[in-house]
Amino acid sequence: MFIGCHLSIARGYYRMGQDALSIGANVFQFFTRNPRGSQAKAIQPKDVEALLNLAKENDFGPMVAHAPYTLNPASVEPKISSLAREILRDDFQRLSLTPEAFYNLHPGCHLGRGSEAGMASTMELLNAIYPEDASTMILLETMAGKGTEIGRRFEELAHMLSQFKFPERMGVCFDTCHVHDAGYDLVNDLEGVLHEFDQVVGLNRIKAIHLNDSLNPKASHKDRHAKLGEGRMGLDALIRVISHPKLAGRPIILETPNDLSGYAKEIQLIKQTLSLDTGK
Ligand SMILES: [Zn+2]
Repeated sequence: MFIGCHLSIARGYYRMGQDALSIGANVFQFFTRNPRGSQAKAIQPKDVEALLNLAKENDFGPMVAHAPYTLNPASVEPKISSLAREILRDDFQRLSLTPEAFYNLHPGCHLGRGSEAGMASTMELLNAIYPEDASTMILLETMAGKGTEIGRRFEELAHMLSQFKFPERMGVCFDTCHVHDAGYDLVNDLEGVLHEFDQVVGLNRIKAIHLNDSLNPKASHKDRHAKLGEGRMGLDALIRVISHPKLAGRPIILETPNDLSGYAKEIQLIKQTLSLDTGK
């Protein structure tokens, strides 16, 4: 099982690997740059190499990079659109240093133009920017549907996936808080939700899971993450998601409001609960 959390890249790549090990994680996610801005520090190839060695020695799961969430690839406003283009281009270049990495992306906000138009803009941009020789797997994240976010319905994710020029290099990151906030009943009808996802998108397209509780009720479209068991979904429902056989093997990333020690506790809690469940 690959389990870990979101970590800060502020002190470099190798340090993230050390942080992950210190909290019992064997996978982690990081922002490619300061999430509130577009500035990214120059990458140190030696630092990345040290992390890749550490990851190999410790059987880590895939590197999971996360695009800045302020990036709006669905916008046609010239300034926003060219910034998105610039950041994506730079990120794909950075990601060439971590082969086979995942790149988690919020598909964007249509800002009143309608989700069809928003999806078309996002996919046009990704198709134009994605380097032909890249090995990065783009993950479109399931969204809560806050404001004009696209990607709240499984149908929208399926549509976007169908538009990408390299289908084998695009998948979905399944965020439990977002799917719940979008209106799918993960708490009482996990089987039904997974069946629907399978019919509409295909469960094989899920490449990673963001494990978060939600501060708000189902269909609230809010996107406020809560610690495991401290939200409206509850620990049992979240454990059922990650222990579902049809989702087995996917890296599980916590994005709960925690510092390192809080993440260590949640990782331990999950490991304990899962081993009790299987009687090991
Ligand atoms: Zn997420």
